Amino acid sequence: MKREKFDPHFVKEECEKYVKKKGGLAFGIANLESLEQIAPQGHNPTSMLPKVKTVISIGVGGGTQGSWSADAKTLAYIGDTETMAYRIAYGLAFFIESRFGYRAIFVPPDMDPEKGARVPMQSLKLHAEVAGIGARSMAGDILLHPEFGMMYYASVFTELEMPPDQPMAENPCPHPSCVTLYKRTGQTPCQKFCPVECLSGSIDENDQIEEMIYDSHACAEMSQQYEAIPSVLLDTLDAKNPIERGMALHGPENQVLWYKLSIGAGELLSLCYECMRVCPITQTALMANPVARGAGMRQKIVEAEAAARTEHNIEQESDKIK
Ligand code: SF4
Ligand code: SF4
Repeated sequence: MKREKFDPHFVKEECEKYVKKKGGLAFGIANLESLEQIAPQGHNPTSMLPKVKTVISIGVGGGTQGSWSADAKTLAYIGDTETMAYRIAYGLAFFIESRFGYRAIFVPPDMDPEKGARVPMQSLKLHAEVAGIGARSMAGDILLHPEFGMMYYASVFTELEMPPDQPMAENPCPHPSCVTLYKRTGQTPCQKFCPVECLSGSIDENDQIEEMIYDSHACAEMSQQYEAIPSVLLDTLDAKNPIERGMALHGPENQVLWYKLSIGAGELLSLCYECMRVCPITQTALMANPVARGAGMRQKIVEAEAAARTEHNIEQESDKIK
């Protein structure tokens, strides 16, 4: 079937408009060649969609400002918005196929079933980083954006061509206030407040990240409860009598796990969020949360109006001179 040709820039604008209209904050195109070189074989875009031409990355904002003020257990339930990112990306794949007639897929945000619980089928984080809508931070490489703070990412692959973006020229992490704290205490806020001390590393003399060390096992034990299930089963098998066995399976903490499993609750995969609760970029970036975003949008409108007024005045002055 002969497919209609489209201007790649026009297509990109239309896709970005779709994403922003649906509530996405950031939109970027990752350079396919770079991804093919960086991603390991089997996890590169062409291994999933052989004729892929474009890798689209989208970012949606994190929780509301209210959720960041809630206690830890409440935040663990309501802090993530990744399903919204997936919903928009799924819609975008359908939009591309119906509007332009080219194949597109929503990239599964899942782990590779042949590689266990720590190897994703595709790194959505890498797509976002190469697309320039996030940079790796001191907090376990969580991507941060100078305007939107912490976001959740989703990707779409398509056979439709669009021009790529560049990775961010500057990393917003570490924030100047984190550098000050690091110089005083030897720790950044995310390192200091992680409850299981799984973050460490250093900042160089240019105030840039020198080294970032992330103990993903400690973080997962704290925050990703699916990791706890094998231990519960092991305790059950090791139980010495029916009472111990009953406690291993039905103790109050473990009942929560079965409940979450039965309702498919996303919190089995969640963060504990304490590193992001104290991160100045996540908390204070201009558009980082809905309240700030409202103020940020108003500020942008005021700036745009001021720029338009200046342009108008310059035009009037040059008309007078003529
Ligand atoms: S999510 Fe929690 S445990 Fe993991 S790095 Fe952040 S603060 Fe530490
Ligand atoms: S608190 Fe945020 S900005 Fe500061 S070092 Fe950690 S991740 Fe970077």
